[in-house]
Amino acid sequence: MPRTAASVPFSTRALVLRARPLGEKDRVLTLFSPERGKFSAVARGARSPKGKLSALAQPFIIARFLGATGRTLDIITQAQIEAIHPHLSGDVLKMSWASFACECADWAPERVADEEGFAVLQVFLNSLDEADGFAGCEAAGLWFQAQWLAHQGYSPTLGVCVSCGKKLDFVGEFWFGPQSGGTLCGNCRGVEASPEKVSGKAMRALHRLERSRRPPRFLEDAPFELDEHAGGEIARSAMRALLAHGEGRLRSLPSLQDARAAAQVSAGEARNQ
Ligand SMILES: [Zn+2]
Repeated sequence: MPRTAASVPFSTRALVLRARPLGEKDRVLTLFSPERGKFSAVARGARSPKGKLSALAQPFIIARFLGATGRTLDIITQAQIEAIHPHLSGDVLKMSWASFACECADWAPERVADEEGFAVLQVFLNSLDEADGFAGCEAAGLWFQAQWLAHQGYSPTLGVCVSCGKKLDFVGEFWFGPQSGGTLCGNCRGVEASPEKVSGKAMRALHRLERSRRPPRFLEDAPFELDEHAGGEIARSAMRALLAHGEGRLRSLPSLQDARAAAQVSAGEARNQ
């Protein structure tokens, strides 16, 4: 008789990136764990409201999962929820940022341990959950973008022209090249089809966000002192850099852009009242 690989029990903390139905009763969860990296596992009975794993159907939950390795898919047997991030659901902007982050995490290769990536996601989701309005979400979101770029090994080169090496003292006009991975001087801006015109302030803030262990509450506060325009420069540059280095496609991006634009307008209206 052919021998099948023995199933091995496992216990790991993980973030639910997404859940899809499997048959009438079960769900397949895509999880991101510090020790096991990205992996998929079946949660039996998770489609039934009475099933003990039904609470795992929501994304953005962090839990400790007990399970066993299977021949094709791992099986979850128990889960103890650690964080549900209660303020994400019902808030379109927060949900959009969280979906964006989970989609970036979903680019990870299967089963490559990633403690640092998990830590970034965990800090980001906690901060986003507590974030205050458009400005708070923007601070958390831009921090996540800067961190994720660096985590992927695509930390942008800032302060020198990536094409000719000229030092940019961040005065005058210069550009950010998403494909080139950093700032470009005026002479070299033509190396990219559509470089992003950026300010020194925005690029210094991007550098600082990459080095901060957690997101600032607001980007208007010291040491950033950024207005919404400079925040937008960071968001566009970092998103385009993520897209250039990732799989070139983020399904969650259009709805995130819509949610950001709508929240920015209502934040402006609230200020002017
Ligand atoms: Zn140059």
